[in-house]
Amino acid sequence: MKFIIIGAGPTGLGAAYQLNKLGHTNWQIFERSDHVGGLAASSLDDNNFTWDIGGHVLFSHYDYFDKAVAEALGDQYFEHQRESWIRILQRWVPYPFQNNVRYLPDDALRECVFGLRELSGTSNTTSNFREWMDIVFGRGIVKYFMEPYNRKVWGVPLETMSKSWIAERVSLVDLARIERNITEELDDLSWGPNNVFTFPKYGGTGAIYEGIAKPMREKINLQHEMTEIDLDQKTVTFSHGLIERYDVLITTSPLDLLVSKCRVVPERISDAAKDLVHNSGLIVGLGFEGRRDDSKCWMYFPESSAPFYRVTNFHNYSRFNVPAGDTERYFSLMCETTYSSCKPENKSTIVEETLQGLVNSGMIDEDQKNRLASRHLIDIPYSYPVPTLGRDRALATIQPFLESHSVYSRGRFGAWKYEVGNMDHSFMQGVEVVERLLKGTEERTFEDPLSAQSVR
Ligand SMILES: Cc1cc2nc3c(=O)[nH]c(=O)nc-3n(C[C@H](O)[C@H](O)[C@H](O)COP(=O)(O)OP(=O)(O)OC[C@H]3O[C@@H](n4cnc5c(N)ncnc54)[C@H](O)[C@@H]3O)c2cc1C
Repeated sequence: MKFIIIGAGPTGLGAAYQLNKLGHTNWQIFERSDHVGGLAASSLDDNNFTWDIGGHVLFSHYDYFDKAVAEALGDQYFEHQRESWIRILQRWVPYPFQNNVRYLPDDALRECVFGLRELSGTSNTTSNFREWMDIVFGRGIVKYFMEPYNRKVWGVPLETMSKSWIAERVSLVDLARIERNITEELDDLSWGPNNVFTFPKYGGTGAIYEGIAKPMREKINLQHEMTEIDLDQKTVTFSHGLIERYDVLITTSPLDLLVSKCRVVPERISDAAKDLVHNSGLIVGLGFEGRRDDSKCWMYFPESSAPFYRVTNFHNYSRFNVPAGDTERYFSLMCETTYSSCKPENKSTIVEETLQGLVNSGMIDEDQKNRLASRHLIDIPYSYPVPTLGRDRALATIQPFLESHSVYSRGRFGAWKYEVGNMDHSFMQGVEVVERLLKGTEERTFEDPLSAQSVR
């Protein structure tokens, strides 16, 4: 059985890794760009600052993935305690917001607590994400954090989003616990599976995938962009004319683009692909001269005083993310802004707006703003696959059709399931589809995303 894999991101590499483990040698990866890692790749800018494509934090649900990462990195990594905060009303509130509302000024705190106390009804009756947050969090928390933050990240009207993707992705509320935190002045920081995370010493997050790809390098064909698929002939064509036949095609290209590349597809398939919604991202990497004493890892910014929704103290992840590893002399902030047709952003002014946003939100002062050592802009056309109300219907139309032609679309934008769109899920989607095809096992992550959020 000849496997062709499109894309050398975490999913494609996961598939290849598993083919190797099972001793199946008849496979090749074809990757459009000149490097591996996809959205989880990293780059070095002209001033020797390393950047990821947005804040990438490993929070794995799978021992199998952990072992692959450990093999790839050896002892070349740092381990960090997760520390994330929210900037709101000119103060820092520890994440998750709802458990730490005691940090708010009195008026806002009262609104949050009253909103929780007057909650009635059950989230089962809600029909979209916006309604769901009202029922679950109450008006204060929705007003100060949930609504503005989610509007900024997703860049689409929240009424168009489903609630089906929510499990551990959004921390829920426990009124008794919140009230105890307020009365006893407790910090409540320990939500979620990602308390400790690993980060490569050198080369950013991308070093993980460079390491995984290393032993299979001769079977990874870089700078090969797939431009057409003939589902009947089972062939793929690449931009410079090469044609490859396959028995099985595993693709990690965005699913809507994949459908548009199939030579002939029924109208119902191309129509369904139009219901898949994504947003795009602008990552602004800013390197500064100076030392920054701030142990926070990443920070959320729901307010309109800054364009970004999240900023990472990237020099904290590895000192080698700044030139010569010299954090006495440099620090680096990675700032993420979403754009979409509903939320346009200006690419020619985003760097300046980001700098001003850092000043407005108290991250840096005017003096630091003038000590800029590097600026680096990354444009990501496909950033988040949005879980819209029409998504599952579209996927239920497209995926069985493709599979009936031996095409398996997996990964962050291949499967288009945000709830299993992180690096660990993506890598395991690649592993599991190969297991299914060669051994008949179940594809747990792809088929049952909510259960995959709790496995290890
Ligand atoms: C802003 C942002 C923040 C994130 N933060 C985190 C985080 O904190 N933790 C976490 O675990 N994950 C995070 N992720 C998710 C992580 O990046 C993805 O899980 C992972 O990269 C998905 O892997 P993939 O292989 O499915 O897709 P991709 O990484 O998109 O890789 C797909 C590959 O296919 C190639 N390709 C596409 N079309 C073609 C074609 N026609 N021909 C040839 N090659 C093609 C692309 O060039 C790419 O290399 C984040 C993602 C973003 C955008």
